[in-house]
Amino acid sequence: PARATSIDGKAFAAGLVDRVAAAASRLEGAHGVKPGLAVVIVGEDPASQIYVRNKGETTQRAGMRSDTHRLPDTTSQEDLLLLIAALNADAGIHGILVQLPLPAHIDSSAVLDAISPDKDVDGFHVVNAGRLAVGLPGLVPCTPLGCLMLLKAELGDLTGLNAVVVGRSNIVGKPMAQLLLGESCTVTIAHSRTKDLPALCRAADILVAAVGRPEMVRGDWVKPGATVIDVGINRVPSKDPVKAAEGKTRVVGDVAFDEAAAVAGRITPVPRGVGPMTIACLLANTYTAACRSVGVEPES
Ligand code: NDP
Repeated sequence: PARATSIDGKAFAAGLVDRVAAAASRLEGAHGVKPGLAVVIVGEDPASQIYVRNKGETTQRAGMRSDTHRLPDTTSQEDLLLLIAALNADAGIHGILVQLPLPAHIDSSAVLDAISPDKDVDGFHVVNAGRLAVGLPGLVPCTPLGCLMLLKAELGDLTGLNAVVVGRSNIVGKPMAQLLLGESCTVTIAHSRTKDLPALCRAADILVAAVGRPEMVRGDWVKPGATVIDVGINRVPSKDPVKAAEGKTRVVGDVAFDEAAAVAGRITPVPRGVGPMTIACLLANTYTAACRSVGVEPES
């Protein structure tokens, strides 16, 4: 059977990082502003440590300032809020990211909403969610922004396409749906209470899976020729039973890739699909915030 084109998110993300780095260097040349990103991590969660290190390294490679604030997991909410206030007031910092999850004694939403919306490069602040909903310029969550960039690069104009987004989280599903609506798609948001999800998905020209369930979306849920964006990052036991017994894992998406690729026109793989776009969009958002801090329109 004809196989779908696999969308190379890793290559696209590398190109985006290069373009953002070049634009940031022009911004610095013209306005003397070097985009700066502050990442705050509380505690020792190993996955979070890796994410934070990757973010810092990519930021520096793009010629931007990168500060990492590592706090012990005993840090009080009050002290964390004091750090956020200091970063909000620091003119050399244009983006602030607090790595989640935070320790249980800290109220995450109180912390996220303390970040100045203009520096909220994760796009999680309620003001940025509101700006996206009403179509005002703001900062858009990185993962759905990356998905939209891939879709536009692959398909061009999205007007009138039927888009189904499976998942309604505030960080992926909802903002993804808002972005697609902004591109004049006809958008349906599905979730755990949706009836006959397979039939709904089969009507989608664009199918975005952001569920967190390994390989839930099957080949016969996909409309022939559709574009499938798989946001899921799920760890499952290795295929090799010996390695699985040793606790070795592999990463799969929310879509059964081989089945879906036999039907779809285009599909993002996992890994090397949506994942790399998330960090690239974090840099893009930091650059955008730096431009706005001096009243300049970001280069697109
Ligand atoms: P959440 O757990 O916050 O949301 C999952 C959504 O999926 C919910 O809306 C839930 O519905 C829905 N859902 C769960 N089970 C079903 C089902 N059986 N049928 C239909 N819908 C279902 O997850 P996130 O949005 O944070 O993340 C989704 C996935 O994307 C995860 O695998 C995560 O690891 C990955 N991810 C990847 C990123 C990247 O950089 N590529 C970044 C962020 C996330 P309901 O609301 O009804 O409970």
